[in-house]
Amino acid sequence: MKAIFYSTKINEKDLLIESNQQKHEITFTSKALDKDTICYVKGMDAVVVFTNDDLAAPIIKTLAEHGIKYIATRSVGIDHIDQEAAKKYDIKVANIPDYSPQAIAEHAVMLAMALSRHLIQSNQQCRAFNFSLDHLTGFNFYGKTVGIIGLGHIGAAVAPIFHGLGCKVLGYDTASKKTKHVKFVDLDTLYLESDVISLHIPLSPETRHIIDTSSIKKMKTGVMIINTARGELIKTTDALEALKTGKIGYLGLDVYEYEKGLFFEDHEVDQFRDFLFSELMKNPNVLITPHQAFLTKEALQEISTQIIATLDHWNSLIQE
Ligand code: NAD
Repeated sequence: MKAIFYSTKINEKDLLIESNQQKHEITFTSKALDKDTICYVKGMDAVVVFTNDDLAAPIIKTLAEHGIKYIATRSVGIDHIDQEAAKKYDIKVANIPDYSPQAIAEHAVMLAMALSRHLIQSNQQCRAFNFSLDHLTGFNFYGKTVGIIGLGHIGAAVAPIFHGLGCKVLGYDTASKKTKHVKFVDLDTLYLESDVISLHIPLSPETRHIIDTSSIKKMKTGVMIINTARGELIKTTDALEALKTGKIGYLGLDVYEYEKGLFFEDHEVDQFRDFLFSELMKNPNVLITPHQAFLTKEALQEISTQIIATLDHWNSLIQE
């Protein structure tokens, strides 16, 4: 089958070529899928995308007009794809539901620990030969309460790590779940009792801005919030207000509400900077990574293997 891979980065191209073993005619572009790049799909059967590609209804309509029958995303999340539109135009959609939950779980815990120990500031100080300990006091995770919202593949991988650190782990999930080391509670109890809250739910109309002024109000003063799921789960303006008052004590993000068009590219020399992002970065108790939680060798290998397996499967359907 012929497939075009959008938003491909140098760290995944070789793995994809190796996994493909010349079975499919695959083409790569580092550009994101949008109205300007959609012409690349001419003659293709499938498009393979990533989280910040545009797959809103008008783009899907144009894909259908170009004869595209399949969309595969190299991600767990499918919030960037208009499912209704895909259905309407009879385009099959596939994601990778479970490529390496540990990659994201370990990154979430790393953000939490780096924030607690002021790791970035202390390293910057050392580089400047400033070895003062004056502003570097951290806290122990041992004995703290960690609330995990969403106990799917990733949340369930986060729980044993915090448990291993000696934390009490609370969980909230809309599906009834049983997860080792996790005491399930209602959402308000989780907000009320947690010192650290880590988000692992998909983005949907129900979960958009789940963290806003009204939910933050229910949390402990000085709470640490970690978001490695989707940026739009947090209303950034509300989080900034809560950082100002000290209600949020620490904020660790691998995803950002307005990351589309910003993350995954080098914008160092841009004249205009995203205002809210710059405001977040003014806070020493905010630590942001650019949607890289998935970025481990193991996860990239698994993504490549599984995406080619998806193309194999679709190809076998065409042959039938
Ligand atoms: P998953 O589908 O295995 O688990 C999601 C869990 O959330 C499920 O148990 C579901 O019941 C629960 N849930 C759904 N809506 C909820 C709600 N309103 N309240 C409480 N629980 C709810 O998904 P996963 O593999 O654990 O991934 C979670 C999210 O992490 C993905 O949707 C994706 O957006 C994000 N993600 C980010 C990265 C990254 O690199 N930063 C990588 C992979 C996934």
